[in-house]
Amino acid sequence: MRRIYLDANATTPLLPEVFEAMRPFYLEHYGNASSIHQQGQQARSAVDHARESIARMLHCRPAEIVFTSGGTESDNLALFGTLNPGDHLITSSVEHHAVLHAAESLESRAVEVTFLPVNQQGLVEPSTLQSAIKPNTKLVSVMYANNETGVIQPIEALAQIAHAAGALFHTDAVQAGGKLPLDVSVKGPLKDIDLLTLSGHKIFAPKGIGVLYVRRSVRLSPMFHGGTHERQRRAGTENVPGIVGLGKAAEIATEWMKTDGPSTLAALRDRLENGILAAVDEAGVNGAGAPRVANTTNIYFDHVEAEALLIALDLKGISVSGGSACQSGATEPSHVLTAMGLTDARARATLRFSLSKLTTPEEIDEALQIIPEAVAHLRRLSPTYKATVSVTH
Ligand code: PLP
Repeated sequence: MRRIYLDANATTPLLPEVFEAMRPFYLEHYGNASSIHQQGQQARSAVDHARESIARMLHCRPAEIVFTSGGTESDNLALFGTLNPGDHLITSSVEHHAVLHAAESLESRAVEVTFLPVNQQGLVEPSTLQSAIKPNTKLVSVMYANNETGVIQPIEALAQIAHAAGALFHTDAVQAGGKLPLDVSVKGPLKDIDLLTLSGHKIFAPKGIGVLYVRRSVRLSPMFHGGTHERQRRAGTENVPGIVGLGKAAEIATEWMKTDGPSTLAALRDRLENGILAAVDEAGVNGAGAPRVANTTNIYFDHVEAEALLIALDLKGISVSGGSACQSGATEPSHVLTAMGLTDARARATLRFSLSKLTTPEEIDEALQIIPEAVAHLRRLSPTYKATVSVTH
């Protein structure tokens, strides 16, 4: 069965060009980028080249790029690297667990933490941030695009408020990479962003590689203690093939952003979203009306257990994600959706569909044949769903 992959926010496949760029750094150019000899220098120059490609994507200096093991490490480094006991951190209640759980851990180490609420659309309102600022606020961390809903936060306005209060601003841009322009230059829209997280495997690079952008003026304490790699900000032998892959993927993403690719992707997502809403009653889009990244739609199907629907779609060859995280066997409703005011039942009836530039119109048409039927089938078994029966007299 040819599968239809609609889970690009979970991960993306490696592009063949990315894999080809990486291959020599496993087999021939396997030197350690810290070694003095020629093989070491080959590896060093490949790392430098990748750093430049990523700096071009972000409009920053190559020296402001720190390579990490992925989005989770970058988020942790941004928070643990800037906060000390007695400092105040402000973040939002819809962050990825990489930020939320890091914040909770900091709380147990005498860092004061405020989790900002969001409105029904999933947006952090700038006035909410303004009123949470305290004299000891050291860092504000709000994600750029949400991984579940695709909702885009007003980070320009939020970062401005943080800066006006003398605080730093970090954004988890894992789900914005390759989807939204990222310009942190002094003249760019993200000029007030001090720290920014990216992850390789969301932009067709490998898993286990990521970036933390650190503005030159920011003092960052390392989390790992060891060698002087990454200008003493992240110790550990560089993952040269991973870095090369991420550099290549960044180059491809930067070029793709200049084409009509993003608008084509948005049109495809809209086709899926509108097609589902036209065919299924008592369904709706979480985060509707808010600005959203082009590839994501998060849809509730009342009277259906999302987990059952996910499995039914999986059996029919469609890969999607639930709006809930399965932790130690118990299905908890998504913290993102409950923060937006959804009932537990509706949060448990929600699926996330996330497309990529590899998704085809044919796949969307096929998915539109399958999804409404799968929902109807499950609803026939639902004790709460009353199908509207048209009666002719
Ligand atoms: N932040 C967001 C918004 C994400 O979606 C993810 C991954 O799902 C991460 C952070 C973690 O990134 P990684 O898987 O590279 O650790």
